[in-house]
Amino acid sequence: MKLVTQWPADLDGPAGAAEAVDHRLFDRLEAALARPAAQQPVWRDPGRARDAVELLSRSRPIVAQAETARLRTRLAAVARGEAFLLQGGDCAETFAGNTEAHVRANLRTLVDMAAVLADGTGLPVVKIARMAGQYAKPRSQPVDALGLPVYRGDLVNSVEPTSTARTADPHRMLRAHADAARTMALVRSFHDVHVSHEALLLDYERSSLRVDTTGPVPRLSSGLGHFLWIGERTRQPDGAHIAFAELLSNPIGLKIGPGTSPETAVDYVRRLDPHREPGRLTLISRMGHAQVRDVLAPIVEKVTATGHQVIWQCDPMHGNTRTSATGYKTRDVRHIADEIAGFFEVHRRLGTHPGGIHVEVTGDDVTECVGGGVAEADLPARYLTACDPRLNAEQSRRLASTVAGLAAA
Ligand code: PEP
Ligand code: MN
Repeated sequence: MKLVTQWPADLDGPAGAAEAVDHRLFDRLEAALARPAAQQPVWRDPGRARDAVELLSRSRPIVAQAETARLRTRLAAVARGEAFLLQGGDCAETFAGNTEAHVRANLRTLVDMAAVLADGTGLPVVKIARMAGQYAKPRSQPVDALGLPVYRGDLVNSVEPTSTARTADPHRMLRAHADAARTMALVRSFHDVHVSHEALLLDYERSSLRVDTTGPVPRLSSGLGHFLWIGERTRQPDGAHIAFAELLSNPIGLKIGPGTSPETAVDYVRRLDPHREPGRLTLISRMGHAQVRDVLAPIVEKVTATGHQVIWQCDPMHGNTRTSATGYKTRDVRHIADEIAGFFEVHRRLGTHPGGIHVEVTGDDVTECVGGGVAEADLPARYLTACDPRLNAEQSRRLASTVAGLAAA
């Protein structure tokens, strides 16, 4: 599909030399977005999509550049081993779930986990919520078991299993942006919490970019979130997502699964951190508990040898997903804890900083992951997630204690 090509209308309108910078960045943005992009919906009416992007480009950004700059400073401290990074929230936010009670409960869980981790690590904890824009999901199949187009997150279509509901609707980008802005207002009432989402839907991601000349080279600052990450399914080296991330001044995360070779990891690091900025890039390993000890060590060794100061963050969720006997997508808290233990072992052995964790958690009393008081038979009771299974408040608190223990050991 040809992506919408529309330079945001309300760019601060610099003239002369600055305008030339804009044009170079514009050309690079166009080139990045012209590359093959995985996991994008097909809009039935590209004109409507173009209109939606145009409207979004006139909206106020969700986050302020100064807030993103503050996060960059804090992440540099994580990369130097002087702070710990906690990132977490829903796998997928939903419009229906965007209530004050839900948002507050998730933020409360994150803050409570951070307090436990600060105690255990003796370090300041940088908190980043998966929130205020986590509305698009990569999927393993384009159609579901009923033969309907798969649900790609509320940013694209509706989870309801009808062909009308599953049709990609570009106006959902406008709703998501408005919802994200509302969420962000609540987030700001919690001290020091930043927001993040997967930079997946490129028509959305391209809609709120400003030239940022504060760094080593002019780049584009996304107003859609402080921290953006590229997922395991869209990190093709020749693809649009990595090329897009290269242009951003926001701190970037990259999910890496067990198929990542040390050489590939080094290639990503060179491309996404060309100016060697500590904490610019977070490598989010999601290897699975059975593989993390074998697969992660050579990656850490090889990247460390390059001298780039990346953040090493463990996502213990996505490599440990399985289907229960009763057909629920679930995760076992013991596997989750074991992957983090393996992550700490690798870093302890190599003398590198186990910089943080990235988890799917909620403050709601759900039964989605097993262990810590939830049995497989309990899963149907309160299985509410729109996508992947989350730890509930109690499971999250216990996991934070376990991680605090690992950090203190
Ligand atoms: C996610 O974080 O929800 C996700 C889809 O992760 P991954 O890209 O690691 O599979
Ligand atoms: Mn997920």
